Amino acid sequence: MTGVSATQCTLALRGGPKAVPDDPGDEALFHWPIVTEEDEQAVLDVLRKGTMSQRDVTEKFEAEFAEWIGRKFAVGHCNGTMALLAAMHAVGMGRGDELICPSVTYWASALQAFSLGATVVFADIDPESLCLDPADIERRVTPRTKAIMVVHYCGRPADMNAILHIAKKYNLAVIEDVSHAHGALYKGKMVGTFGDVAAMSLMSGKSFAVGEAGILVTDRREYYERVIAFGHYARHATELTLPELKGLAGLPLGGVKGRMNQTCSAMGRVQLKYYPRRVAEIQNAMNRFWDLLEGVPGIRPHRPAKDSDCTMGGWYNPVGHYLPEELGGLPVETFIEAVNAEGGRCGRGLNAPLHLHPVFNQADVYHDGKPTRIAFSPEDIRQPIGSLPVSEGIDQRAFGIPYFKHDNPRRIQQFADAYRKVAENYKALL
Ligand SMILES: *Cc1c(COP(=O)(O)O)cnc(C)c1O
Repeated sequence: MTGVSATQCTLALRGGPKAVPDDPGDEALFHWPIVTEEDEQAVLDVLRKGTMSQRDVTEKFEAEFAEWIGRKFAVGHCNGTMALLAAMHAVGMGRGDELICPSVTYWASALQAFSLGATVVFADIDPESLCLDPADIERRVTPRTKAIMVVHYCGRPADMNAILHIAKKYNLAVIEDVSHAHGALYKGKMVGTFGDVAAMSLMSGKSFAVGEAGILVTDRREYYERVIAFGHYARHATELTLPELKGLAGLPLGGVKGRMNQTCSAMGRVQLKYYPRRVAEIQNAMNRFWDLLEGVPGIRPHRPAKDSDCTMGGWYNPVGHYLPEELGGLPVETFIEAVNAEGGRCGRGLNAPLHLHPVFNQADVYHDGKPTRIAFSPEDIRQPIGSLPVSEGIDQRAFGIPYFKHDNPRRIQQFADAYRKVAENYKALL
């Protein structure tokens, strides 16, 4: 156990040597996305032809992406936010409707609902998966609930069986936000194939990264056409067949334009070819890191059980669980500070709970004379502090870990040593 020598040292925060010596190789170890000459050629080709705003390359990317993920239709978008708005429109969300969404997620899982005249009801998260707690979804259902937004948070698949069961029981649409989990498996099947529709970001920081872009996937022709009608007017003539939409061809129903820039779809086609193998390497690296920390007090991996037939996809924004009760109540802030003093690249990890943000409580975005959140609600559905206890407290029980893009055993051992060293010497920090 190479960790042992590290644990006998004085913590770096107390003047000891760092567990993770500086290494110029880290630039490659953490760099993302991986761009080769093949990406460059594909993008240059679009630039030189001047076809950035056309759709021949995007349509090829859509077909390849749909096949990879296992859906009939895919529509490239200018970003994930727009793709998720289109998904909300596709399932029919409108004035007064409610979207149930986890409170701990990026704002773009939910906030677009406002622009459809709909609103958001937040549900609490499960402290282990950090995804929607199915039992809490059921408590949030009202006669106005239209859809559930499922976020596979930080790469971890949500409990789809339970969520689909509730959706069926109350006749709700299910939208998956796959922005953190491209390629993750839930019971052996790729996330993004469970809901009525799924949408995701492909922006530069995500695990599937092609610039400013997003994509929406569905098996339902009618949803696909609604998405095209909503914000892809240049495709109306060739793709709308539903009688209620055909008559509206020409202008975008949503008054928005969702088209994907073809420099991004060109890069997307190249990225897709290599994505499975690159993700496999990330999975080896991240699992190696956590396997080295097995049994260390106070910290636990945020990953599905090994025998669960679930995986973490590209491990976007990887985090760990923090259990201060095993470390004499050491606050997570101090733990993070001590790991960073060792060179351990530790962070805060999670989004702040959305249900407490002023945009969801006070802002009158569309000048209705009351907060937009409740502009079309028959009662005040706002959720005050204390209403979602797991979401409100989880920040004290999680931390961000290094996001390895390559499986480098020597270096990953050093990073794991940093976490082990701090956890095993926590008393020096109390
Ligand atoms: C990044 C992200 C989005 C938004 O995608 P953009 O491409 O940045 O518009 C939506 N939901 C989640 C969970 C995200 O992380």
